[in-house]
Amino acid sequence: MLIIGLTGGIGSGKTAASDFFADAGIQVVDADIVAREVVEPGEPAWQAIKHRYGQSALLEDDTLNRAWLRQKVFSDPAERQWLEGETHPRIRESLIRQLSEASSPYAILVSPLLFESGQSELVSRTLVVDVPVETQVERACARDANAEDQIRRIIAAQIPREERLSKATEVVDNSGSPDDLYKQLQALHEKYLTLSQA
Ligand code: ADP
Repeated sequence: MLIIGLTGGIGSGKTAASDFFADAGIQVVDADIVAREVVEPGEPAWQAIKHRYGQSALLEDDTLNRAWLRQKVFSDPAERQWLEGETHPRIRESLIRQLSEASSPYAILVSPLLFESGQSELVSRTLVVDVPVETQVERACARDANAEDQIRRIIAAQIPREERLSKATEVVDNSGSPDDLYKQLQALHEKYLTLSQA
C-alpha cells in the first residue's frame, strides 16, 4: 500500500490539501483525530492517566483537562515521557490499523508533526504543504482568531521550515490561490495513482 505522509506548519494548508485528496476518493487518516481518540473517556490511555493523576487530570464530563496536563508535563520531563509512553504507541497502532484498512488506491496520513513524532516512518513518501512563515501567521490568525504571538509560539515549537522542506519527497507551494494549490495536487494525485499501480 502506497501511503503518503502529508504535513506542513500550522496554517500552511494541510486541511485544504487533505480535503482535496478526500474529495478525490482517497482515504485520509488524520493523526490529530487519532491522538484525541486514544484519550477518550474509557480508553486504556485515559484509564492510565486517571489512575496516575486522579480527578485533577479530568474535567467534569470526564474528558481530559488538557490545560492541567499541559502544565504538568511542561514543568516535568519525566511526566512528559510517561504520558507519551502511554499515548504514542497507541496512536501509532491505531494509525497503522486505519491505514491498512484503506480501500483507495493509496492512502494519506495527515499529521502536523509527521517528522517530529516519527510518524514519517509509517509512510512511503512525504508531501509538504509550504508557505512563508508570514503567510502561516496571517492565515492561522484569520482562521482561529488566535493571538499572533500564540501562533508564533506554535510555529517555534514545530521543526523549522527549511528542515521540513529538506525532508520532503514532494513539496507544494500554497502561497498562491486555492486553485493554484489544487492544480499542483491534481498532478501529484495522478503521479500517486501511477505509483500505486507499479
Ligand atoms: P492547516 O490545516 O495546515 O493548519 P488550513 O488548511 O486550515 O491549514 O489553512 C489555513 C487557513 O488558510 C484556512 O482558513 C484556509 O481556508 C486558508 N487557506 C488555505 N489555503 C489558502 C490559499 N491558497 N489562499 C487563501 N487562503 C487559504
